[in-house]
Amino acid sequence: MISSQKIACFRLDIDTLRCIEEGVPYLIETAARYDAILTFFLNAGQSMRYRDLLPLGKSSVMLGAPKVSAQKKLGHYYLLRTLLGNPALASAYPEQIRSIIDCNHELGLHGGKNHGAWMRNVDKWSAHKLEDEINWGVQRIQSLTQTTPKLFCSPGWVGCEKLPETLSQFGFTVLADKHGRYCTLEQDAGLIRFPTHLVGEPDGVGYFEHLYAQSLSDEEIMNKFIEDLKSTGDFVVFYDHPCFIGGLKRSLAPQLFSVLSDLGYRVLSFSQALDQLKVSSA
Ligand SMILES: [Zn+2]
Repeated sequence: MISSQKIACFRLDIDTLRCIEEGVPYLIETAARYDAILTFFLNAGQSMRYRDLLPLGKSSVMLGAPKVSAQKKLGHYYLLRTLLGNPALASAYPEQIRSIIDCNHELGLHGGKNHGAWMRNVDKWSAHKLEDEINWGVQRIQSLTQTTPKLFCSPGWVGCEKLPETLSQFGFTVLADKHGRYCTLEQDAGLIRFPTHLVGEPDGVGYFEHLYAQSLSDEEIMNKFIEDLKSTGDFVVFYDHPCFIGGLKRSLAPQLFSVLSDLGYRVLSFSQALDQLKVSSA
């Protein structure tokens, strides 16, 4: 790391209707008050597979870190709309997606046509199927924003062996599938591997979500955030979903930007951070 300033990146994965409809506009508005630039990753497709809801299907709940139930996180209104319609987010919310770019935040791609299908099947997909899924997402972002995404992260943090090469073919330069407090910024297999430091471990739940799920008060959550920032260092990437930090617990968003500002961090997009950081080889 060669930057002389403290850098924080806020990674936000847009997975659901509540993320895009409610969370994104609120976070854009709040970030503007703190001069913060955010990095969103868009699941352009559907949020879930119906078969995952069947009792005989594989559990859709990842065990491990404390998390908030989908029912609580989405609320009855968004949960019902998701179950009844399950729309592809890119086709349902063009204005919100364009506003991310128009307000100078960064937009990456988060999977393909269905978030749940990617998480469960990507390691079994053929090269052709993987290309088709990524191409579908790239085209949605291109047609809505007239920009081509350079950043990618996999639904559920689940990639596959063919993924780096396939992403390179589509012009992606950054893959953000690593999480953990001590992950570093690395170049590997032609892509910059962007770390995400602060998540609910061990399975990568939203950072603030996993603290809230432990019944901590807002004050206790912010104290833990400060403690974790201090132990992570001058470059920190933290992660959550807009439906949580810009929806269910939106009261935390101004507080976290305020904490970062008080501690001397600038909140930059992934690309802005890369302009100032040294990338090592894996
Ligand atoms: Zn996701």
